Amino acid sequence: MAENPNPFDGFETLALHAGCPPDPATGARVMPVYQNTSYVFESPEKAADLFALRDTGYIYSRLTNPTVAALQTKLAALEGGVGAVCTSSGHAAQMTLLSALLRPGDEFIAARQLYGGSLNQFANMFSRAFGWTCRFVDGLKPEEFRKALTPKTKAIFIESLANPGGLVMDLEAIAKVANDAGIPLIVDNTLATPWLCKPFEYGAHIVTHSTTKFLSGHGNAVGGVFIDSGTFDWAANADKYPALTAPEPGYHGLNFHETFGNMALTIYGIAVGLRDLGACQSPMNAYLTLTGMETLALRIDRHCENARKVAGYLSAHKKVAWVNYAGLPDSPHNAAAKKYLKGQGGSVFTFGLNGGYEEGLTFVKSVKLFSHLANIGDTRSLVIHPASTTHAQLDEAGQKAAGAGPEVIRLSVGIENADDLIADLTQALEKV
Ligand SMILES: *Cc1c(COP(=O)(O)O)cnc(C)c1O
Repeated sequence: MAENPNPFDGFETLALHAGCPPDPATGARVMPVYQNTSYVFESPEKAADLFALRDTGYIYSRLTNPTVAALQTKLAALEGGVGAVCTSSGHAAQMTLLSALLRPGDEFIAARQLYGGSLNQFANMFSRAFGWTCRFVDGLKPEEFRKALTPKTKAIFIESLANPGGLVMDLEAIAKVANDAGIPLIVDNTLATPWLCKPFEYGAHIVTHSTTKFLSGHGNAVGGVFIDSGTFDWAANADKYPALTAPEPGYHGLNFHETFGNMALTIYGIAVGLRDLGACQSPMNAYLTLTGMETLALRIDRHCENARKVAGYLSAHKKVAWVNYAGLPDSPHNAAAKKYLKGQGGSVFTFGLNGGYEEGLTFVKSVKLFSHLANIGDTRSLVIHPASTTHAQLDEAGQKAAGAGPEVIRLSVGIENADDLIADLTQALEKV
């Protein structure tokens, strides 16, 4: 991965410039879309070196591509990591990352308060396809992670700001559990973004994102990434992580940790993870995400400002039973938001209508400016009724436990004019 040559390292500056100097081949000021599969080798010797990982360079776009590499450099810079591996989606990032850490029969611990798709992936697909067991615990009780540890536990996985309930996890306390156990803490930082929270500053070892959401930010590119802090000591825990610390049969017995030091996980993720699992990011999606990230700080500030106005409005409305938004001073998560999220609550949160399922359906039918769909982190404002959609597979008790009871509405507040958003909610609530 290219070093970031830019000595100006403020967040907003890196969001624009990290990974994206003028194109050395053409001078193009914006990183071009390298929409190609393969790269001509300078010589047969160079080709052999590339294939044996003795040299770095481009071989084939399932492994590396200049547009995707630029995004990797930018994401690593913004999170403060040593390297990043971009993938086709957030779910692909979770699969590719865990494939480097777990073997069949191994376990990991995850907070129960996770994106619904991650719950499915962890509980069902990972055990069925890979033999990895996920133990779920209450993420708001750090000691529960300690109690769930077994000799087979290889990682802890949490979200910094959990979707959809607006819950803020105690990163420092959970990082301590992971450090004491000699396993990495993985933090899905999708809802917070590095503009609000940098998990590495609190002891997390690896960060994942669905770049589909706020990083690309415009609802037009699916993608994912995992970013390595470079701080986890693989050698001290060598027997637990043979993929990184034992000879790799797919590379003539190469030992990734001995050869690449703190870049071991990043290079393994590309050279083995992407090569063998194949969930690479497309250059076009990387390009769209690079463009979206240029305005990350501006957008997130506006998202949060609008969300705070909307949440404040809803919490005073007579047809609203409750609002769960960490950015409001009376939220039970406001203290944690002050510690970990610059006092902000992000822009995805839930509220409860007075009433139930029918009122929920009427509400999503009645909004005009908010779009009823299954995404978050778009510039546009979005709404969904989880009980009839994302959480419809659960019975009512399960829905309630997941914060998705029949009266619950989830909003992803966009960057429109806040008065227009409130006017839309006002007219929709009149119909409920
Ligand atoms: C959307 C999402 C994911 C999954 O990402 P995809 O890009 O949809 O695969 C994971 N975690 C969180 C918090 C998400 O919001």
